[in-house]
Amino acid sequence: MNKRGWLRWCPDEVVSSVAEIDPAKLKQQGIQAVLLDLDNTLVPWQRLDVPDGVRQWIEAMKGAGLRLCLVSNTRRRRRLEILAKELGVAYVPKAFKPRRYGLRQALERLKATPQQAVMIGDQIFTDVWGGNRMGMRTILVMPMARHEFLGTKVSRLLERILLWAYRRSGALKQTAGTERTI
Ligand SMILES: [Mg+2]
Repeated sequence: MNKRGWLRWCPDEVVSSVAEIDPAKLKQQGIQAVLLDLDNTLVPWQRLDVPDGVRQWIEAMKGAGLRLCLVSNTRRRRRLEILAKELGVAYVPKAFKPRRYGLRQALERLKATPQQAVMIGDQIFTDVWGGNRMGMRTILVMPMARHEFLGTKVSRLLERILLWAYRRSGALKQTAGTERTI
């Protein structure tokens, strides 16, 4: 199910926040391992406080028997470590997504094949592209905060154009509540 051409950046699904992702549905799809981006997916950029809704969602995911690993490009390793410990999940630092190396490490840690895994993140050119390159399922979430790295703001414009084009071509289903931003 490797995606080719311009579809290499197309997520399987778009949701407005992780809390919308149903653990039971992932299990039905044969998913066992969940690779999670950190910044703007689980916590607002550079912050240390995980919102209650996200915490509860992570507990529900674990409760369903899913194995979780944070896969982050952040340079602040200590922060990643603290958050991973607090949430009780594995982590891979310096993942350099969309490179495959960090994602492979996460799969090894969770003892899963790409077919049994999903990559969840807020950026098309790191999270979704990386997951698609591995042949994993990919879910794009709307970024938690608008405050972010300048380079990211630039790629947001391209993301918006791509999502519009994917929806228009039918490659991506319309999902209520996700049309607005990015
Ligand atoms: Mg992110």
